[in-house]
Amino acid sequence: MTAPALELIDVHAGYGSIEVLHGVNLVVPVGSLVTLLGPNGAGKTTTLAAIDGRVAPTAGCVHIAGRHVNGSPTQRVARAGVCSIPEGRGVFPNLTVDENLLMVTQLHDDLTTSMVRERTFARFPQLARRRHLLAGSLSGGEQQMLAMARAIVTDPALLLVDEPSMGLAPVIVAAIYDVLGQLTAEGMTVLLVEQFAHKALSIADFAAVMSNGRISVFCEPADLEDVAGAYLGVTA
Ligand code: ATP
Repeated sequence: MTAPALELIDVHAGYGSIEVLHGVNLVVPVGSLVTLLGPNGAGKTTTLAAIDGRVAPTAGCVHIAGRHVNGSPTQRVARAGVCSIPEGRGVFPNLTVDENLLMVTQLHDDLTTSMVRERTFARFPQLARRRHLLAGSLSGGEQQMLAMARAIVTDPALLLVDEPSMGLAPVIVAAIYDVLGQLTAEGMTVLLVEQFAHKALSIADFAAVMSNGRISVFCEPADLEDVAGAYLGVTA
């Protein structure tokens, strides 16, 4: 049987002496999109950080494709195929679009500059027109697309995306979700943290709802929508 792309078993983690995750259990099957929803401060970003190595779990297990990675440095988790698009995009504002893209080839020997450009500009034609501009001069939506492009070209085994719609106009959010929807249709495995519950549920295979550092509900989106208001504390 194929191991899930990601499995968290009773994961505890926090900052210094303050525990934020109090026993998180979560499974992301290969080829699925799981959206992690919940109110501010529930621990969603901390969960992503415990997966990609920014925060070391104090207890429990993080398994990537069946391999135990707890406490591994971020580079080792990245080599296991985990790629993160952090809240706030994570692009280099003082480098051009092209330079941001080509940095990926430094970390991935199997990617050539022409492969990176070709794959990116086919999916995001507007980035081709902006390739010589500084990333910091792009709109928020274009920066999000650049961040997604940098992640997608590496063909990650697991893509972690933190609040991609944050601060963006609805029309741009729709474009970002079109891309996320295409990626899942192509078979990419994604864990998506989102405040925009309605959008995330429209493309998710499974929804996990977090409150107070634990997953309180895990189900298919159709089942969640019945109880969304009660669990999410937001309008779905
Ligand atoms: P949001 O949508 O507001 O980001 P979240 O569900 O992602 O919410 P987290 O960012 O994981 O929640 O935060 C969970 C708790 O951990 C909050 O109480 C937050 O204040 C605290 N926290 C987050 N980052 C740090 C940090 N670097 N140091 C100390 N406490 C932190």
